[in-house]
Amino acid sequence: MKKLLIAIVVPLLWSCTTNNATKNEGASQDHLIMATIWYQNAPEMKALYHQGFNLAKANLELAIKEKRTLPAAVVVDIDETMVDNSPFEAEEIIRNQPYTSEFWKEWTSKARAKALPGAVEFSQFCKEKEVQLFYISNRKVDELAATIKNLDSLGFAYAMESNVILRSAESSKKARRDTLSKSFDIVLLIGDNLNDFSELFEDRGNDWGASLVESNKEEFGRKFIILPNPMYGDWEKDLYGKETLTEQQKDSVRRSVLVGF
Ligand SMILES: [Mg+2]
Repeated sequence: MKKLLIAIVVPLLWSCTTNNATKNEGASQDHLIMATIWYQNAPEMKALYHQGFNLAKANLELAIKEKRTLPAAVVVDIDETMVDNSPFEAEEIIRNQPYTSEFWKEWTSKARAKALPGAVEFSQFCKEKEVQLFYISNRKVDELAATIKNLDSLGFAYAMESNVILRSAESSKKARRDTLSKSFDIVLLIGDNLNDFSELFEDRGNDWGASLVESNKEEFGRKFIILPNPMYGDWEKDLYGKETLTEQQKDSVRRSVLVGF
């Protein structure tokens, strides 16, 4: 009986695997494997999040002692800043399926992302200090209900419509920060992408934004708290440019920018 089962199941599994591979042939997302494994498992990743949020707490305590005309507020990004979407990256690898907004929404609609280390505690710290925390994210407005549900289920403070500001128009967060700045003094920004901090970083020039980071180095660890995301980000735009490339072309580009000895 066991032999019979193996004889039936193994070829079946083999045909499923082959069909999947054929279906998504050439769409391999294997370049994401190490970054995703690091993000999901490395204790160094967890330590970096704690380091970022510990620094954020210390800086906020100092900032609220200063006199200001408008009330202080904190701005945080959501994805890979407060919640962990690495299961989506893993699913891209498993299915050999690159990012599309439909695929992304399949994930966010589940409202199952987990909190990143130190993130919930930081949001609660802001609440204790009576400092408003705003989530400015490039999730689209039609993801609002699922996003609030997800944040709320994890115990995040300020998981409410007034404080979760998603993308209704352009991806730049400048206009949304400017609107907030009319009523609040934004004393701290936390994100995994330079564009979470300032429009200064939107045009990164010819050196992947290296000189922009250098000329703003005093802000990092102070007003700007940057968290790690090796899986994706605006930094990739400098890699692929504006052209639509096949997965194979992208692979060639990735190899072409490597600097060896
Ligand atoms: Mg992010």
